[in-house]
Amino acid sequence: MQRKDAAVFTFNGSPTAGLREFAEELKQTFIKNGYVYQDNPEAPRLVLNFISRDNAKPYRRRAKATFVISLLELEEMPTEPVKELYPYIVRALSNMMVSYTPGKGAHFLTLELGHYLEPEGPAFYERVYARINPIACSVLVIDNVFEPTLEPELWQGDEQTRALYRAGRKLAEWDLLPAPFPIETILPPEDLRHVKRLYGIGGLSYGNLSARKDERRYWMSASGVDKSNLSEIGRDLLLVKDYDEEKNAIILQVPPEVVPKRVSVDAIEHWMIYREHPGVNAIIHVHAWMDGIDSTQFNYPCGTYQLAEAVAEKIRRAPDPNRAIVGLKNHGLTITGPSVDDILERIDGKLLPQVPMS
Ligand SMILES: [Zn+2]
Repeated sequence: MQRKDAAVFTFNGSPTAGLREFAEELKQTFIKNGYVYQDNPEAPRLVLNFISRDNAKPYRRRAKATFVISLLELEEMPTEPVKELYPYIVRALSNMMVSYTPGKGAHFLTLELGHYLEPEGPAFYERVYARINPIACSVLVIDNVFEPTLEPELWQGDEQTRALYRAGRKLAEWDLLPAPFPIETILPPEDLRHVKRLYGIGGLSYGNLSARKDERRYWMSASGVDKSNLSEIGRDLLLVKDYDEEKNAIILQVPPEVVPKRVSVDAIEHWMIYREHPGVNAIIHVHAWMDGIDSTQFNYPCGTYQLAEAVAEKIRRAPDPNRAIVGLKNHGLTITGPSVDDILERIDGKLLPQVPMS
């Protein structure tokens, strides 16, 4: 699946002195690779948003599918990138942050808390472009269609949803924090509301979990919910019925009286895996790590069709796809199992809250 919109990008705000050359070179590199620059377009694919230490002004998206990357000049390379850069990614409501230190290089930070460095040197701008382009080209599967057709006997859940409830409690106990600080302390309420809407486009959550219901359907955690209390059907846990390729939407069955929440953005990934592997009955995705796991670099954010395909491909190649652990470099783990409890047993006590970065 490819994006059908034109590869339009734009700048927002104005670059500080040290960012001017960086911005111009990057602009030329994007154009050389087929992108079209426009001033103030209606629905650009990509926005490069210039911010400064005192002014992390957000770009207000008019289209959900617009990716915003904020650029910040720093005199020194960050020593603790997550701590130093994460407040800006949130304040500037971005999908990604790049800090640039003239003469040294660019440091990237994603909403999933992954971070990595591109040092200045040969082909610097091509390398920066190669980090950004896959994100700008990926297709988010974030539309939900709710059908009030859930069977009454499932309105209170079933054995599978109770297993997910127990698993959610475990994940919460293991303290896999969604962000390195309480977000509400650095954002005014209006921005906080906007960030909450942004939950739908990835990040600020520490993962998701699901369990197969039957051949075609599975239960999955809602987007941005408290994992320690996955109890209400249609609000904390949703039954995924299908993926509608035409509409690029996830189809959910909910009880008729419930105002439903959106399903986790990774529903598309779980959908692909369940469809392909009848022996997989549960999937857990965490923004955490385990020792001894091979990792693959995917430059795609959570919730994109491309990330889902890349993970599905890794699971296909695993020695046992029904019990696979796939490492997503700078991001986290996706783990399959014959049951929720089987996965929990395999990861109990082994998760490291810090994902190794490179
Ligand atoms: Zn993720």
